[in-house]
Amino acid sequence: MSLRPTLDFLLYDWLDAGSLNQRERFADHSRETFDAVLDTCERIAREKYAPHNRTVDIQEPHFDGEKVILPQATHDAHKAYVESGMMSAAQDYDIGGMQLPYTLQAAASSFFAMASVSIGSNMLTSGNANLLLVHGTDMQKDVFAKNEFSGRWAGTMCLSEPQAGSSLSDVATRAVPDGADFQDDPLGPRYRLTGNKMWISSGDHELTENIVHIVLAKIPDANGKLVPGTRGISLFIVPKKMVDTDGQLTGERNDVALAGLNHKLGWRGTTNTLLNFGEGKFPVGGKAGAVGYLVGEVGKGLHCMFHMMNEARIGVGTAATMLGMAGYYASLDYAKARPQGRLVKKPEPGAGSAVVKDSASPQVRIIEHADVRRMLLAQKSYCEGALALELYCAKLVDEQKTGDAQSADDARLLLEVLTPIAKSWPSEWCLEANSLAIQIHGGYGYTRDFPVEQYWRDNRLNMIHEGTHGIQAADLLGRKVLMEGGRGLTLLAARINDTIERAAAVPSLAPHAKSLGAALVRIGSATQAAWSTGDPADALANAVPYMQAFGHTVLAWLWLDVAQRALAVDEAKSMPATAGRTGAATYFFNYELPKIGAWLNVVENRDLTCATLAEEAF
Ligand SMILES: Cc1cc2nc3c(=O)[nH]c(=O)nc-3n(C[C@H](O)[C@H](O)[C@H](O)COP(=O)(O)OP(=O)(O)OC[C@H]3O[C@@H](n4cnc5c(N)ncnc54)[C@H](O)[C@@H]3O)c2cc1C
Repeated sequence: MSLRPTLDFLLYDWLDAGSLNQRERFADHSRETFDAVLDTCERIAREKYAPHNRTVDIQEPHFDGEKVILPQATHDAHKAYVESGMMSAAQDYDIGGMQLPYTLQAAASSFFAMASVSIGSNMLTSGNANLLLVHGTDMQKDVFAKNEFSGRWAGTMCLSEPQAGSSLSDVATRAVPDGADFQDDPLGPRYRLTGNKMWISSGDHELTENIVHIVLAKIPDANGKLVPGTRGISLFIVPKKMVDTDGQLTGERNDVALAGLNHKLGWRGTTNTLLNFGEGKFPVGGKAGAVGYLVGEVGKGLHCMFHMMNEARIGVGTAATMLGMAGYYASLDYAKARPQGRLVKKPEPGAGSAVVKDSASPQVRIIEHADVRRMLLAQKSYCEGALALELYCAKLVDEQKTGDAQSADDARLLLEVLTPIAKSWPSEWCLEANSLAIQIHGGYGYTRDFPVEQYWRDNRLNMIHEGTHGIQAADLLGRKVLMEGGRGLTLLAARINDTIERAAAVPSLAPHAKSLGAALVRIGSATQAAWSTGDPADALANAVPYMQAFGHTVLAWLWLDVAQRALAVDEAKSMPATAGRTGAATYFFNYELPKIGAWLNVVENRDLTCATLAEEAF
């Protein structure tokens, strides 16, 4: 199975991404250059990533006392990725980028996520450098961002601490001014950091010459106390190795020590680390404390960090989607090849049994069983639907950056509302797809002889990192649908209604259009009912069921839009791909959308069954 036809349809026929070159920023591009990027990434993923996905799972990163060792395949894949120029593909020409639309970059990165998610697409490095482009000084951009975009150095994102994961306001890493002249350092106001950062992905390795950590820390007040809450948080660049203003290594290590590698369920090709900052193992200038350079204003660290979040969350959603897709393709191949059982037939009149099977006939392939088809169609509807969602959001990023004032602002607000869904929906449902892929393989799926168990293990991370499911749901119901007087929700409803109107004119889609209209009304009334007492404890107790219903409604909308476009493009309505798309849409409307009733019941009733059960009763 090739991903390419699905990707091409969604990009060009559905989203009309080919016309992005009419924007000034992308004027040098064409369908040919877009296709060339996709071809290159597809090839690198096929040659350098896919063959090594199992290797990186088995040969976990290990520390030899001095260095973190990764398989040679990871080094080779990293080199090929850097040489492709994809690290800075969406960036300006003057910093070595290709000014490629983000939509195309997101599409291209899907090949890597499907081939081997944990070898990685270097999302953290480009996200880190992107943040510096927006919030860093010219010197910080030159020294740090440019060297990250070129692939010479890698980047991390150091938010979490052992005691502060979901609750970043409790970050305890301290940053104190480094000497009386701390303001005069050309790389930025210089501080000394002490503290521990937990779960840091790619926190130590030898893939690159240096690692640029972006670290959240608090600057103590005059009494030496940390300011409570997020307004006390600032952001710092902390290089693993000290550098000068020309971007050359000075030869001195910074005081960042690897305290340990975490041994994970999946995603094992990427190191995951506990880092100690400023414990005195590598004192710089004879002093303990990791040297860090302030980025942006004091106390605005989380605000700056959120700049990375939208694209990082689309990246997580894409990773979840593509792991789901990898499982779908593997289980589809398996279902076409595996003979097992016979089809049931209607008994002759008078026969005792309600079901008969012709035991003398050869076994059928399992794809012929209705229940296996149900599992395949569920996977297709989850994964191709999720891909449509991620690409839709990626196009909003381009619209926000290059559209006229009104459409850029609409895109910004729509992204606010859709980002928790783009991150969470694939994390939950493409994981479910991976579970179904294992199920289709039967006992074989539960062994390491087939790849599907690894896809599930790798995918299980996505509901946890970059803000857990519960935190995303609270963000959606507690903030995003309320912000700016609910304008984001109104904008989204207008787009959904536009699709409903178009689909209502297509006889085969009209019943779905009606169901979607009802679902949308119900989301609106559930939002109001959740907040009707004005008590966040009432509303947020069922934030996850709300997010599930919201996500399913968004996916139903996208499937209706995709199906309508598929029927419009294929005038003869004879292509198997069109039958696949309309079939997946029908599956979603018949089997999935009705689930929102149960989810929204507890939201509307502000059901406190879980919230109020006494602790001793559990
Ligand atoms: C493999 C991996 C890679 C990671 N990479 C990075 C990285 O590169 N950089 C980085 O900074 N971090 C990283 N993380 C950390 C990740 O973001 C955190 O694990 C995550 O934010 C959750 O924090 P926690 O583990 O402390 O769990 P906790 O915050 O303790 O949460 C435990 C459970 O309680 C729930 N919960 C917590 N608070 C609330 C609340 N207020 N309301 C409702 N429910 C709540 C959560 O939803 C969750 O189910 C990574 C984690 C993993 C596992």
